[in-house]
Amino acid sequence: MHSQLHQNSKSDAQAEKILTGDRATGQLHLGHYVGSLQQRAKLQHQYEQTILVADLQGLTDNGNNPHKVSSNILNVVADYLAVGIDPLKTTICLQSAIPALAELTMYYSNLVSVARLQRNPTVKNEIASKSFGSSIPTGFLMYPISQAADITAFKATLIPVGDDQLPMIEQTNEIVRKLNSIAQDEILVECRPLLSKVPRLPSTDGKSKMSKSMGNCILLSSSEKDISKAVKSMYTDPNHLRIEDPGQVEGNIVFTYLDAFHSDLNYVNDLKQKYKEGGLGDGTTKKILEECLQEILRPVRERRETFISDKAQLIEILQKGSEKSQDESSQVLKDVKNAFGLNLF
Ligand code: ATP
Ligand code: MG
Repeated sequence: MHSQLHQNSKSDAQAEKILTGDRATGQLHLGHYVGSLQQRAKLQHQYEQTILVADLQGLTDNGNNPHKVSSNILNVVADYLAVGIDPLKTTICLQSAIPALAELTMYYSNLVSVARLQRNPTVKNEIASKSFGSSIPTGFLMYPISQAADITAFKATLIPVGDDQLPMIEQTNEIVRKLNSIAQDEILVECRPLLSKVPRLPSTDGKSKMSKSMGNCILLSSSEKDISKAVKSMYTDPNHLRIEDPGQVEGNIVFTYLDAFHSDLNYVNDLKQKYKEGGLGDGTTKKILEECLQEILRPVRERRETFISDKAQLIEILQKGSEKSQDESSQVLKDVKNAFGLNLF
């Protein structure tokens, strides 16, 4: 009875297809967890879902350090399994193992100007923070095009992402419209983002987004000790010197994290009230947050340890998922080549 219901709900939602992914630039962190992974673990029961380990995209700013990418591919897969993404329900695949994705990127690159790529706000921010100077790798500037290839190759309509990805989705839809107008047919489909309630988790110092490349993360694999250290170092209200002083909740990272992770929001609201009135110390709020994070991460870390110790299993999951994805994406590639009149044989 239960499985019947389950199957029905998946087929009812057949029109929606999910594609999302992560760069293989490091282990996944709490930002991924609240920004996208939790949603994916839920959505896999309802929708057809593909998740891509983006190794090619990881290389776009690591061309001189490819080991960083190759050594993190299986880490990312282990993270997926640890949060409950089930390879029997979700297709997990590897970007570099699906040649159609690189080919589509080349075709689409003829439809996007360099100026348009330079205007992409996320690319702009990342270029500034990575201090490329005048040596921006071509691949890096083009990565929104490769993301459009990933999304369209699976005819995905729903993309669970953090808010830094909104400009990529906008650019993808521009490419979709251009290509369809060239083809004079709806060969590609437009997509829309699905943001979680925490579309951008800040780093523990509050200075920027928690991000693999910045090394400012609480990882899904972080030890109890590391979690404790990270919480203790969190940015709060610098003017809240004595416990009795009224404190500020806005911009106080401990409260940002309590909002993001605590299961009882009424309780968090009571804490905020007390903090604002004065009488609640940072030591106490940090202790509450630490307990909450330890509780969330303990089972994830334990599951992850089991998965990462069986590399052969992780490779098999990726290989199977990539093989499955090849058929789907080759069909889209064929349609796109057709649209450009490249179909002699
Ligand atoms: P890198 O620094 O290599 O770019 P990253 O930490 O930004 O790594 P990505 O692989 O670029 O991670 O992002 C994968 C997905 O996770 C995207 O959908 C992104 O929006 C989401 N995401 C990443 N960081 C956060 C965050 N701090 N809060 C919410 N969502 C996030
Ligand atoms: Mg990123």
